[in-house]
Amino acid sequence: MASDEGRQDEASAGSQATMVNPPASAFRGELREWLHDNLTDELRAANTGIADASTLPVLRPWNAALADARWAAPAWPSEHGGRDATIDEQVAYLEEMSVADAPGPINVIGISNIAPAIMMFGTREQKDRFLRPMIRGEEIWSQGMSEPDAGSDLAALRTSAVLDGDDFVVNGQKTWNSLGNLADWCQLYVRTDPTANKHKGISCLLVDLRSPGIAARPLRTITGEESFADLFFTDVRVPASALLGSLDEGWSVAMATLAHERAGVARLHLMLARKLDRLRADPKASGTLGDPRLRQRLAAIHSEITCMRLMTDRALESAGTFASGAGGSLIKLAWSRCEQALANQAVDAVGIGGQASLDGPGPWAHDLLSSRQCSIAGGTTEINLNIVAEQVLGLPRDPR
Ligand SMILES: Cc1cc2nc3c(=O)[nH]c(=O)nc-3n(C[C@H](O)[C@H](O)[C@H](O)COP(=O)(O)OP(=O)(O)OC[C@H]3O[C@@H](n4cnc5c(N)ncnc54)[C@H](O)[C@@H]3O)c2cc1C
Repeated sequence: MASDEGRQDEASAGSQATMVNPPASAFRGELREWLHDNLTDELRAANTGIADASTLPVLRPWNAALADARWAAPAWPSEHGGRDATIDEQVAYLEEMSVADAPGPINVIGISNIAPAIMMFGTREQKDRFLRPMIRGEEIWSQGMSEPDAGSDLAALRTSAVLDGDDFVVNGQKTWNSLGNLADWCQLYVRTDPTANKHKGISCLLVDLRSPGIAARPLRTITGEESFADLFFTDVRVPASALLGSLDEGWSVAMATLAHERAGVARLHLMLARKLDRLRADPKASGTLGDPRLRQRLAAIHSEITCMRLMTDRALESAGTFASGAGGSLIKLAWSRCEQALANQAVDAVGIGGQASLDGPGPWAHDLLSSRQCSIAGGTTEINLNIVAEQVLGLPRDPR
């Protein structure tokens, strides 16, 4: 990457250095100008990571505006509303959105994971029907993979779909369905051949969550938020045309989808750098930031963030695509450890008094609780360590 220095300067609020000829400068300039004209404080306040019922009224029109200006998914092909953005431009997009504290599109999982699978495996009708409402945030998508007994071992999934005339009849339960209580559609993984080897006989369906027989039960997390749901399917009729990819070949769709999920690692060090900057600037922490032990720990976190950025740049340079596979696992591991360490240090820095706000836990207390999920979501720490052990160190395979 031509300008590592520039990238860090961009990603760190409060930095004094000015970038000279950064990558994708014209693209950056256009986005910066657009954000300057359109981003409001109300939108910044709604930039909490994942949409919920309280932020949706603000985020929906914002999402539509982003899409109409072709800033909702610049990596998408232009025929679907993107900009065919190069890797440098995709990184520039993440950096500029992060620096501006701008919320991205509502369909975080939809745009980065589900849509690429639809583009790769979908019929012309599926692309025409689904991509535009997804990029504009008019329809919200969730991803139905995990079940109570199928998480890390996704191929153990049991939700069944049996072909009956022109429909599949779906029965089963999905869990930890992000946005599931708000979603209109679900990319659902089902077992269509229970006699086949467990990685075979899985299919992927694009399911209308308003269909009769589907119940969504919100799951309240340790932070008190309800951003997940359990989904229950009882004799749900799903048209055969909802099949994405070939019958019984859903594992290939899942792997393509997850490869894109791992690609999201490029944004992780940016989020951390912003958080560290916010802590440095927080007046509640000003009395403790001089403490020698805290300084040491925060400097260690800063070093880790820098290493993550370098790993990400290396992965981008070497593969020409975003980090995936073992590189993605290494970055994911560093991120989850760093997120949790930073959340721990932040509550120490602001002290008990700094952890509450008028209406409940303040942002740092919230972070302390929400950072617990970092070592689970998108592949647990143990699973990522297995990948590194096998693919990087060449150790014997995990006995499954
Ligand atoms: C914030 C968040 C968002 C999520 N969003 C979604 C979503 O939108 N859609 C969806 O389908 N799922 C979602 N999930 C679920 C997530 O994919 C699973 O939680 C994850 O895959 C782990 O599965 P599990 O919870 O069933 O744990 P399990 O797989 O049961 O694991 C339990 C423990 O055993 C360990 N373990 C399991 N196998 C091994 C092994 N082979 N070697 C060593 N240790 C092992 C794990 O690391 C873990 O510590 C989300 C989870 C979180 C936290």
